[in-house]
Amino acid sequence: MSDPKLVQIRGLTKHFGKAPALVHAVDDVSFDIARGEVVGLVGESGSGKSTIGRLILRALDLTAGTVEFHGREIGKLSQREIRPFRRRMQMVFQDPFASLNPRLRIKDIIGEALDAHGLAQGAARERRIGELLEIVGLQADHAARFPHEFSGGQRQRVGIARALAVEPDLIVADEPVSALDVSVQAQVLNLLQDLRQRFGMAMLFISHDLDVIELMCDRIVVLYLGRVMEAGPADVVSRHPRHPYTKALLAASPRPDPDARHTRDLLKGDIPSPLSPPSGCVFRTRCPLADAACAKAVPMMRNAGPDHYFACIHATETTSPEHVR
Ligand code: ADP
Ligand code: MG
Repeated sequence: MSDPKLVQIRGLTKHFGKAPALVHAVDDVSFDIARGEVVGLVGESGSGKSTIGRLILRALDLTAGTVEFHGREIGKLSQREIRPFRRRMQMVFQDPFASLNPRLRIKDIIGEALDAHGLAQGAARERRIGELLEIVGLQADHAARFPHEFSGGQRQRVGIARALAVEPDLIVADEPVSALDVSVQAQVLNLLQDLRQRFGMAMLFISHDLDVIELMCDRIVVLYLGRVMEAGPADVVSRHPRHPYTKALLAASPRPDPDARHTRDLLKGDIPSPLSPPSGCVFRTRCPLADAACAKAVPMMRNAGPDHYFACIHATETTSPEHVR
């Protein structure tokens, strides 16, 4: 059998700017995405989620590390060399208003994706556009319309149709419902789940909302200030989190159980500036377990069970069951 990993990233690092204004956006991040797997990337705003998505798609150049896609190292390919891989990975953006060109009709927005890879011409192209619109729950005759004629949820469906046009193996969905009304968020999440069942593509699903991540993902990668704090199967990480940051995120997320609410403000203060991340463990300035040892070295990843890792030198206990749903 061939290597089952679709994406394998190792030591992924992205710094923006120059010292003394060097932004540590992503530091030494490693994780895999298997074929057909949905991996959730969760963390507060500014933790480096979007940057990781863009690095994998090579919309940004890496500072260091490697990105393997289908076993090929693509981290250092030129923009021209990367083109054949672009067909296999697509992005769905947070803001369906900004991500669709307002001057193009829907058929041209989706058609552009087909044309870029020479996928369909003439009548076949038109049929395919109609089919894609129906796949995402719109109508074939919507093709002649402009983006402003649609609601936010419908525009996001167009964005998803554009991503599907090339039959990608990987979709990076960057906060795909965060800009939508709460009432339509569930519909778009359901659509993404249906599409994943139907077409079997893998997804890197980016969200600051752990509840959405739990719902959508097979595996979770918890990010803080550009570094991985914990990674593992979604149900294991949410029921038995090991890292104090994961525990704080879970406690901060609204639970149906009112007794769990007292733990909400577990996470004190703001995320430090990525211009000068704390030495050692980047989470230590907000961590209830932190001591002098935490400032000395970046914690090694520790194994907590099958495919479950966390980066903390102190955390030994799993969360007691009454703190989780
Ligand atoms: P998230 O998606 O988790 O909110 P981002 O990946 O957008 O986080 O950003 C991570 C950090 O990198 C932030 O501090 C952000 O300000 C910084 N950053 C992102 N893009 C750039 C850029 N093009 N130039 C400079 N800094 C950037
Ligand atoms: Mg982002």
